[in-house]
Order: sequence, then structure tokens, then C-alpha cells
Amino acid sequence: MQDKLKDIFKNSPKKTAAYVHVPFCARTCAYCKFYKTAPSFQNLELYLQCLEKEASRFFNSAKGAEISSIFIGGGTPSILSENQLSRLAKIFEHQAGKVEWTIEASPSTINPQKLKVLKSLGINRISLGVQSFSERTLKNLGRPHKAEASQKAIEQSLEVFDNVNIDLIFGAQNQTREDWHSDLEKAASFPLSHISAYCLEFESATSCCAGNEKPFETQIKEADFLYLAMDFLAQKNFKHYEISNYAKHGKECAHNLNTWNMNSWIGFGPSAASQFGGFRFRNTSDLNSWAKGVMENSPAREDIVKLDDDELFNSAVIFGLRKMEGVNLESLKSRFKNADFSRYEEPIKFLVSTGLLEKSGDFLRLSRKGIPLADSVAVELI
Ligand code: SF4
Repeated sequence: MQDKLKDIFKNSPKKTAAYVHVPFCARTCAYCKFYKTAPSFQNLELYLQCLEKEASRFFNSAKGAEISSIFIGGGTPSILSENQLSRLAKIFEHQAGKVEWTIEASPSTINPQKLKVLKSLGINRISLGVQSFSERTLKNLGRPHKAEASQKAIEQSLEVFDNVNIDLIFGAQNQTREDWHSDLEKAASFPLSHISAYCLEFESATSCCAGNEKPFETQIKEADFLYLAMDFLAQKNFKHYEISNYAKHGKECAHNLNTWNMNSWIGFGPSAASQFGGFRFRNTSDLNSWAKGVMENSPAREDIVKLDDDELFNSAVIFGLRKMEGVNLESLKSRFKNADFSRYEEPIKFLVSTGLLEKSGDFLRLSRKGIPLADSVAVELI
């Protein structure tokens, strides 16, 4: 299958999002499943050298590809020094100012000077991994920063960026409804443009919360916390546009919408996933193996799937249902003409009859009752 990827950049789509995985964390959080490694000087140097090479190979080969958004995630991208961040950003400097360009940052790794450098490089959106404003919850999550550091990081970020997101997590051990309400209140007290509220153990692409493997009481508690976030943030003028995401008017995350809409994205760095040129694949999740592949012009890729209309239609429905507006089935049918639509008729009829899905014109979407049960809905449609 690796051979088949040889020419993918020649089948470049007109537009593609770009994701850069920065696989370094100072310490490991208990619940985390992302690939990360130690930020030693040698590792960072190897990473940057290979990233430059991987990206230049892409830009030289996929000549027609226009980047529609850039997302630098991790790991902890903000662990890089100002000089290292400048090297990374240089890869995309020709896009600066043209597209949404996000960087994820950990509250304890930023300062006013670093924020100004990020902005001067063309980055126009920052996403802070706050997780909670409660010391107890942060401790339970194994997060290295203090609540006070988050508050300071938010204030400093708002001085530099117009577009600031914070990530919150609910469902931590011993977290009460009052704790969660107080996290939401604190978040809404800042002029943020976006809030992501993830359920703990949010791992799979289809997962929202209330995964079937969890005890029933946990599922009920998590659904209650999700409804609390939906109702509270709606009162604060945040639009709930995706299961875990809330935005002020016009501030929806373009990069993530690109994924939920099943468009193209190209990933750089170890473990970064791509959907590009008719394939879905992932760079190997090991810094040294990835670097070796890049240096030898023989990229180490895994989980390679050749995409056809059936696969894309299915993914577009499953991911698209994460959006609160749902999916326009008629437009997906004309986009993926060769998909077997007939196999969805019965499951959709059943899910509508249970009240988990609802139809409105050509749109199919999760009902309020169905939102916490998105996983179970997805299982019926896979
Ligand atoms: S900082 Fe983020 S990426 Fe790193 S271990 Fe913690 S949750 Fe995972």
C-alpha cells in the first residue's frame, strides 16, 4: 500500500487544511492518548529539520494545493522556544494572514513576549489547554499547571489575539456538578471567542461522551454535564455548533469544520493523520522512525486506507452528525455518487423513530436526546 502513496501529491485537491503535530510534552497527563516524547535538544532539532524537509517535499510536489487552514497541535507546541517556533512557522509563511492559523498552547508555557512572537509569525488563533479552573480537578487530571496560570495565560492571550479558544474537560474523577458549573462560569467571564468542552476519555473521532463501556451512572452524569454546558453557554451567546464546541458568531473553528465536512487535510510530523489524494493515512507514531523515513525520502506511514465513495459517504455522515446543523443527505449523495445509500435507509428510519435523530428538510441531525448518545447512533450507521 505504501507504494500507492507515491504519487498522491500529484492528485492534489484544490484546497487542503494542514495539521502539524508537535510531539513534545514536559510530562505525561494520565488520560492522554496522543503521541508525545521528551523535549530534549536533540529531539527538537531532529524534529524541526525533518519537518522542514517533509513540508518542502509536500509544497514542491503538490504545486496546486492551496492551504485553507493551519493547525499546530500536539503534544505541547508552546514548549518550543521563540526561535524554534519561528523555524516552524517559516514553513507556512506564504500563508500568513490569509487563513485561520491556530496554535495549541499550555498555560504554563506562554508569556507576553512569546505571544507577540506567535502573532508576528502570522498565527491568528490560540487554543489554550486550560481543562479546569479547579485545583482539585487539575490535580485529578494530572495537569502540570495551576488554575492561576490559566487565568494569567487567558488574560495575556486576549491582549494579543482576537481569537482565543480554551479547552475544558468534564467528567474528571470526583468532579461535581457545582465544580463544572463554576468552570463554565469562570470561562464565560472572559471575552473568549470559542470554548471546547470535552468529556474525559474523549478519544475516538466519533466519541462524544457516555461511551457504552462506562458504567450507567457515569453515562448519566456525563450527559447531565453536557446539557449543563449546552444550556449555560447558550445563555452566554455561544453557539453550540459541534458536540464539544461552542463559538461566538462567526468564530467556529474552520480547521475542525474541514474535517467534519470530510474535506482534505495533510498532516506533518510524527503520528499526524492525513486525508489526501484519495487516501487516508497516518505518519508513524515514533519520532526516530518518522525522521528516518523523511530523510530517506521514504515516508513511514501506517493505517493506509484507499478511499472510495462508500467510505467517504459513511465518514461524512458519522462526522457530519457531530455538527449541530447535521448533514444534508441530498448534497452528500450528489457528492459521493457511487456510495450505496440504500443501506442507510432502515437505520435512519429506526434512529428517527427512537427520537435520537431528527429530520428537517434535507438535513438529518442529532436531537437533544441523541447528542450525548452520538456514539451509539454512529454504531448503528457504521
Ligand atoms: S500536555 Fe496534552 S498532549 Fe501532553 S500529555 Fe498532557 S494532554 Fe497529552
